[in-house]
Amino acid sequence: MSPIDEEQLQGLQGVRDFLRIRTSYDVLPLSFRLIVLDNDLLIRKSLNILIQNNIVSAPLWDSHNGRFAGLLTSTDFINVIQYYNQFPEQIDNVEKFRLSSLRDIEKAINVQTLETVSVHPSRPLYEACSRMLRSRARRIPLVDVDDETGRETVVSVITQYRILKFIAVNTEQHTSMMKRTIREINLGTYTDLATCKMTDSVLDVINSMVVRNISAVPVIDKNNVVLNVFEAVDVIPCIKGGAYEELKSTVGEALSQRPEDFPGIYTCQEDDRLDSIFQTVRQSRVHRLVVIDDNWHLKGILSLSDILKYVLFHGEEGDYFPQT
Ligand code: ADP
Repeated sequence: MSPIDEEQLQGLQGVRDFLRIRTSYDVLPLSFRLIVLDNDLLIRKSLNILIQNNIVSAPLWDSHNGRFAGLLTSTDFINVIQYYNQFPEQIDNVEKFRLSSLRDIEKAINVQTLETVSVHPSRPLYEACSRMLRSRARRIPLVDVDDETGRETVVSVITQYRILKFIAVNTEQHTSMMKRTIREINLGTYTDLATCKMTDSVLDVINSMVVRNISAVPVIDKNNVVLNVFEAVDVIPCIKGGAYEELKSTVGEALSQRPEDFPGIYTCQEDDRLDSIFQTVRQSRVHRLVVIDDNWHLKGILSLSDILKYVLFHGEEGDYFPQT
């Protein structure tokens, strides 16, 4: 093995050891707010609450059984949209649906029900991270269970974004050892990319996100130049107030509704080294990187899960699991 690979592996090992001695509690800020929604709430109202509070997901609580009932995310709203499109005669009922009906909606449109994985906040971060990657969830709720009463408490939710940020900020001595370029370690997706144009309808883009189980699609022009990225969360303002018809609007129109504090999109090149990717993650609010060439032509996508999978599992025997 070359010295550069050896150093890279040593860096990876350092990060893994760090994740094994830290817990999800360590990732949480000292003070934070948590909005938990009752499963009996109307879906329409839950959407308004997310928008008013400037959040994109929330844990659900089953108050009849005093139990955690899963996580509400933009995927659920996308499912409601799909349902409405498949059963347009049901539009009046869509207004009456409660969060507890989300599972029935999934069944009706025949999408795979997401596992309601959760993790105890004092388990090692490595475990939280690997459970998240294995279940393909981008966020995982931290659920504490009282030993005596068995009662559950939702403590918080951690995301791939937060974990990667935590790694980038706290393990610079290890990530700075990762000097291989993303091309050399084949990190990211470069073939069969899902893309869209500014003039495509939001509905078409949503369909491709559902089919591919991805949460972002680069927006390109006719010369394959990257203009923007359409994200699953961009759907939320589009359907505000139950305006499901708005989805016929174009990607360009939807992107113009982004909040003012939208952090923008991040790019990288195939010759960028992993240590510099970590530097970007440390300094910015990165949710994925679009891989481009010198002229902004689209080359690929580097998602947070691509990076985390590499960091956790590269070179670990028996720990490889194929992408679906
Ligand atoms: P995201 O949440 O950013 O969509 P995921 O973690 O779901 O990313 O990505 C899952 C896999 O799909 C990753 O290997 C990623 O590189 C790939 N991927 C993400 N977006 C696209 C896209 N638009 N086209 C093709 N593959 C993609």
